[in-house]
Amino acid sequence: MRVAIVGTGMIGSAAARHLAKAGHTVTLIGPDEPQGDWAAHDGVFSSHYDEGRITRINDRRPYFATVSAAAIGRYGEIEAESGIPFFTESGALIAAGRDYMAEVDHARDGLDVTFDWLDADGLARRFPFFRFPDGHIGAHEPSRAGHISPRRLVAAQIRAARRQGAHLLHAEADRVAPGRVETRLGIVEADEVIVAAGGWTDMLLGRAKSFTVRPRTVALHEIGPAEATRLARMPSLVYETPNGAYVLPPIRYPDGRLWLKIGGDPVDDELTGSAEINAWYHGGGSPRVRDFLTAQLADLIPGLAFENVRMAPCITTWTRSGLPEIERVAPGLTVASGGNGGAAKCSDELGRLAAVLAVETQPA
Ligand SMILES: Cc1cc2nc3c(=O)[nH]c(=O)nc-3n(C[C@H](O)[C@H](O)[C@H](O)COP(=O)(O)OP(=O)(O)OC[C@H]3O[C@@H](n4cnc5c(N)ncnc54)[C@H](O)[C@@H]3O)c2cc1C
Repeated sequence: MRVAIVGTGMIGSAAARHLAKAGHTVTLIGPDEPQGDWAAHDGVFSSHYDEGRITRINDRRPYFATVSAAAIGRYGEIEAESGIPFFTESGALIAAGRDYMAEVDHARDGLDVTFDWLDADGLARRFPFFRFPDGHIGAHEPSRAGHISPRRLVAAQIRAARRQGAHLLHAEADRVAPGRVETRLGIVEADEVIVAAGGWTDMLLGRAKSFTVRPRTVALHEIGPAEATRLARMPSLVYETPNGAYVLPPIRYPDGRLWLKIGGDPVDDELTGSAEINAWYHGGGSPRVRDFLTAQLADLIPGLAFENVRMAPCITTWTRSGLPEIERVAPGLTVASGGNGGAAKCSDELGRLAAVLAVETQPA
């Protein structure tokens, strides 16, 4: 079957690999990451232009625990098929109060997760550099968890898909319809179109607002060799705070420097339409959120010495159900978007589910 996929992001690139491996004729359509000054970029962006995304099975949301377990199980396969490593097994920790942790406990029901329960003393012993709020306990996944480079995962998926014969078209789509994609480089016709355009999906489909797109700011802190040594055993961390904070261990970015990233916006704003979303990226993020997060990081890691701080903008795309939209909306047209803030780690499974749906539900 001929399948055109719009969006060379996390879900679209995964769908391309699965479909190409299954022997379908795949055209993957989307622009590359803009190089240079984002403010001067006249086009769409993406939620994966970064080097760190937390990966773990433990989650409050049962759906995400299940699809993450499936995706993590294939990281080795994707690395082998592409020759591009993207996964760092630094381990992952959730630290929270007992009610939150009871939800995590429930969500992993039936899944094979290796983890240790840690009470407050256990947390302090294993991670002496963290200071958590009173009453926090932890679940630590020491293996099959940590962080992935979303850029490198997407590059790996695309390379593996191309090795299986997928065709890559570096172009933005202007319009999609069942079986047809109009791009600036011409029209692509297919038996099925999968739209995996993240926060731009509603606009591309020309449909009423279905997703809520939220602006997100992350704060990155450059650390030197002494802090890198002190934090050498730091896991990826999700911990219970009113803003749902998360922190990644030091990661080396393309500038060659080590950056410690914290995210978790204290307010949930909303962006409407492509122009507003692109303007958010052009603006570079919110200094107010950056400063809030920097203060929160200083509380979490007392005495943290950092040499520079910078911020970066991103978006998250939310559905009403809280689950990704992976649905065939018409014969010839499947939607695979709506990551609800957590689709990086499990993107390979979300792409696989979209691929299966797109080719299995064809009318006879
Ligand atoms: C700050 C931040 C931190 C996050 N942290 C985590 C984390 O720790 N762990 C985790 O699991 N998840 C995390 N996420 C969420 C995760 O990054 C997203 O859920 C994931 O990137 C969504 O994948 P996607 O394929 O739906 O969208 P994207 O990765 O955004 O891909 C969509 C693609 O569609 C393309 N596109 C858009 N319009 C068009 C068009 N007209 N024509 C062609 N192509 C188009 C874009 O260029 C883009 O490449 C985080 C998100 C943010 C913003």
